[in-house]
Amino acid sequence: MIYRLLAKFNDDFGLLVFLIYLCLFILAFLSVFLFPPLALVLVVLGLVGFVGIWLVVTIMRSIEYSLARKALAGGHCPCCEGVVSDTGIPDPMGGSFLICRECSQVFEHDGRRAQEEDLAEEDEARASTL
Ligand SMILES: [Zn+2]
Repeated sequence: MIYRLLAKFNDDFGLLVFLIYLCLFILAFLSVFLFPPLALVLVVLGLVGFVGIWLVVTIMRSIEYSLARKALAGGHCPCCEGVVSDTGIPDPMGGSFLICRECSQVFEHDGRRAQEEDLAEEDEARASTL
């Protein structure tokens, strides 16, 4: 449950940040005419805010990956508690992709969620080298 909420948050956080920055841009644009120093303050806060956003992204993703690694080590899917199996196809991080038999979610061995296209891409790349 926590993993699914965290994964959803991590998926949608970029859009949330974009919308916040868009609203602040509109506020800054309007303040140029009404109270110019506020526009300058918002620009500086916007640039400094990227550090905070980077920290949030890094921390939330590391928690998500750690929860996923824990579940994958136990042999079950962090999304649906189904059984995961090793595909034998190497992932970019040096392990191999794991796939859930119930929900078909693909994971890299370090807990990162992958798309089925990544799996197919790696499989084709491996087949072309053989
Ligand atoms: Zn699953």
